[in-house]
Amino acid sequence: GAMRHLPYFCRGEVVKGFGRGSTELGIPTANFSEQVVESFPSDIPTGIYYGWACVGNGDVHKMVLSIGWNPFYKNIKKSVETHIIHTFKEDFYGEILSIVITGYIRPEKNFDSLDALISAIQEDIEEAKRQLDLPEHLKLKEDNFFHLPEGKIVNNR
Ligand code: ADP
Ligand code: MG
Repeated sequence: GAMRHLPYFCRGEVVKGFGRGSTELGIPTANFSEQVVESFPSDIPTGIYYGWACVGNGDVHKMVLSIGWNPFYKNIKKSVETHIIHTFKEDFYGEILSIVITGYIRPEKNFDSLDALISAIQEDIEEAKRQLDLPEHLKLKEDNFFHLPEGKIVNNR
C-alpha cells in the first residue's frame, strides 16, 4: 500500500487550480503541476497523507496532502494538493514547494455534504499534527532535503 513509498520527497512549482480549496472549503491547497504529479509512482494509493512542507527557502511546516482524481480531466489524471498548516500573509503561486510525505491517514471518500467534508478535513489536520510530533515523523522536518540550494529541483532525490 501507501507505506512502501514513504517517506516520499517531492519538489515543484505551485500552480493554479480551480480555487475551490479556499472559496468552498476555507482550506487552501497548493497544487503541483501535472508534470510533478506524473513523476509520482503510478501505484501510490489515492487518499490523504501528511508530512512536512516548505515554500521557497522558508520555514518547514506541518502539512496534509491529498492525492486524488482530478475531475477537470474526467478523473483520468491525478492531482496532488498540499494544505500547509500555517497562516501565510500572501499567496505563493509560482514558488517552489518542497514536501516530504511521511504518513498515510485514509483513502479518498465521498461526503454527503460540504460540512461533512470540512469536518473530515479538520480531523485529518488534527491527526496530522499529532502524528508529526512523534519522533519518527519529526526527524524528517530536519532533513537536508529542505536545505538544498534554492532552485535545485530534485524529485524524490
Ligand atoms: P487553487 O485551486 O488555485 O489551488 P486554492 O483555493 O486551493 O486555489 O488555494 C491555494 C493557494 O492558496 C496556494 O496555491 C497558495 O498560493 C495559497 N495558500 C495560502 N495559504 C496556504 C496554505 N496554508 N496552504 C496551501 N496554500 C496556501
Ligand atoms: Mg488548490
